[in-house]
Amino acid sequence: MHTNKHLYPSFSNPFLIQPDRAMPDEMAVIGAGNIGPDIAYFLRTGLPEKKLYLVDVVEGPLKKAQERFKAYAQKGIDYKKMTPEQAEAVLGNIVYTTDYGRIKNCGLVIEAATENLDLKRKIFANLEQIVDEKAILTSNTSSIPADQIFSGLKHPERNTITHFFAPAWRSMAVEVINWEGVQPDIIEFLLWFFANAGKAPVVTRNVYSFLLNRIFENWTNEAAYLVDRATTLQIDAVTEEFVGAGPFFVLDMSGGNPLTYESQTRRTAERACYAPSPILLSVARWNIAKPGTPVKVPLDLKEWIRDRMLGVIFSQCFDIADRNIGTRSDLNFGSLIGLGFKKGIFDIMADLGEQELRRIVDQFDKERPGFPRPKGPISAYLDFPRDILVDNKDGVRIITLRRPQAANALGAGTCSEILAELERGAGDPAVKGFVITGYGTKAFCAGADIGGFIATFDDREAGVALARGNSEVLHYIDRMDKPVVAAVNGLAMGGGVELAFRCHSMVADQRAFFQLPEITLGILPGMGGAVIPYRKWPHASETFHAMIGQAKRLTVQEAKELGMLEQITTSYPELIAAAIAEVQRFQGNIPRIAEGAVAISEFKVSEQPVAGKLALSKEALGIVANVINQAAAAQTLAAALEINYQGSGDISCIAASKEGVNAFLQKRKPVFSR
Ligand code: NAD
Repeated sequence: MHTNKHLYPSFSNPFLIQPDRAMPDEMAVIGAGNIGPDIAYFLRTGLPEKKLYLVDVVEGPLKKAQERFKAYAQKGIDYKKMTPEQAEAVLGNIVYTTDYGRIKNCGLVIEAATENLDLKRKIFANLEQIVDEKAILTSNTSSIPADQIFSGLKHPERNTITHFFAPAWRSMAVEVINWEGVQPDIIEFLLWFFANAGKAPVVTRNVYSFLLNRIFENWTNEAAYLVDRATTLQIDAVTEEFVGAGPFFVLDMSGGNPLTYESQTRRTAERACYAPSPILLSVARWNIAKPGTPVKVPLDLKEWIRDRMLGVIFSQCFDIADRNIGTRSDLNFGSLIGLGFKKGIFDIMADLGEQELRRIVDQFDKERPGFPRPKGPISAYLDFPRDILVDNKDGVRIITLRRPQAANALGAGTCSEILAELERGAGDPAVKGFVITGYGTKAFCAGADIGGFIATFDDREAGVALARGNSEVLHYIDRMDKPVVAAVNGLAMGGGVELAFRCHSMVADQRAFFQLPEITLGILPGMGGAVIPYRKWPHASETFHAMIGQAKRLTVQEAKELGMLEQITTSYPELIAAAIAEVQRFQGNIPRIAEGAVAISEFKVSEQPVAGKLALSKEALGIVANVINQAAAAQTLAAALEINYQGSGDISCIAASKEGVNAFLQKRKPVFSR
């Protein structure tokens, strides 16, 4: 038996993996109940060119699945997420069958049949007889450890658990279980496979209920224990402070009562306190209301519900961290993308503060003795990067922005996390340099968190401080002696452009582009975006005027022609290889940004300025013009940047920025009056 010591066999960013096999041409999902069809639909939409089989022992669920797919595809067309041709492709090339013999050529089979150990063991023993020895076979069990399902097989090493989250066709989360008996190559392949099919996989150790389900099942089980003092509507309403939908709403939607009951029963092998609430078996449907429905909850009851529900999940977080069941970063990320939390679980903890956390933990311990408690200071559990993944390749540190749920936009702490990582690597002789890239193939970085601007309205100093604070990491890059290369894997917008332009070199995927849309929000690029491009590439000043003044996109081809970009690549591995080559090229030879005044064409505000069809604010553009023109004439880079920061402060005090930012957050078109 193999023994996998590391959670991630090679890379945390799955797009860096170079798998030992190609995508299979044929795949199958076994079981067409609640979740099987949704997994199948994900595979159809993620990989429409591949053939898919959906297998069940009875015809009924297969017919229902077919109807479900049609409804999903129609919705896709109605919401303009899909063209009718794409919908036709998704609905084609799928075989609904009760005949296992049909799947003999499948390279990947995902089992999502009834949650029963004996049944699953039989299904895998049968699959072993049917499919090729090289095929990968996985189970979507909610809680049964891998060894219990696979250890009796002839070839357990190509089997593992891949656990999806409802709605599995849309939720980005999938857990891949790295158990003792699986070959590391299989885990590598699955991580790469899911990432490239549109998911954001996380790795877990082989324990009951894995990583995220430990949270979900304890959360729903705890809620079931509270119904003798509070109603289901009250419990759901109180928990909506933290999650999109409360526990009873989710249980009802997913038919999850028996699953939680069985999983919690299994987990009593770990601790007796996990015993399920008996009411989960005696109730078929809960009294629920649409999330957001107002419900009266007396204050003392509200606090009691809140403490118990937070207490149970915090206890799980400490246990997961102490036993390294998964990384804290994955747990925080997974709680957002898989469990519907409004903030990452560890971020909720950080917001509450150590004293309040301690109170909740102690209170929970009193009411529910036996649950895991923190083994060290609580602050130590909260100290880890949330938004970046860090990998090493060929002596180069690869920093990946991982917020695919927000097109890798910079969150409140992202810039400080990048800075801390650069500082760490700067002092490490084993590190030759850095590559900064984005997770996935769509976005490098969609810019800064727009909500952050609200706090700067009518507060000039706050506007200046925000711009200056966000820029700290960029100042650091300017001074570094080790090269930092941007590997622009997809769209770069706003702060994403400023980050990429500030790196010592750039390479980009052919589908990437650069855009500074700030002016359409009545603001300006605040992190040196109105300064740096002109100082690095003064010959392209007209291009930057159009980018900043009209939100014009810059294609990668244009950027290459202007000498801004070293190479255009056609795949993620090629992109990273090109970026690493750039790190090598710049060893001991870092280009510096021009210090003195730069000669550029003057930025002028036109009579009726527009970006596409949107009429822009002349007042905002007036501030932009001053910043660009004065900063170009400044005698030092520091003075030029200061002009940019001061401009951010000025613009935060005008009506246009309020209108632009509010319109963006309200998803409407802004109307600028001046
Ligand atoms: P379900 O009971 O709704 O459906 C199970 C399906 O499996 C049924 O259609 C049944 O006919 C079929 N089946 C039974 N024996 C079979 C066999 N030998 N071959 C092929 N098909 C067979 O169950 P579900 O809720 O869809 O869950 C399926 C699996 O996924 C379980 O292991 C569950 O723990 C797991 N899971 C479910 C969810 C969820 O949201 N429902 C989430 C994560 C994981």
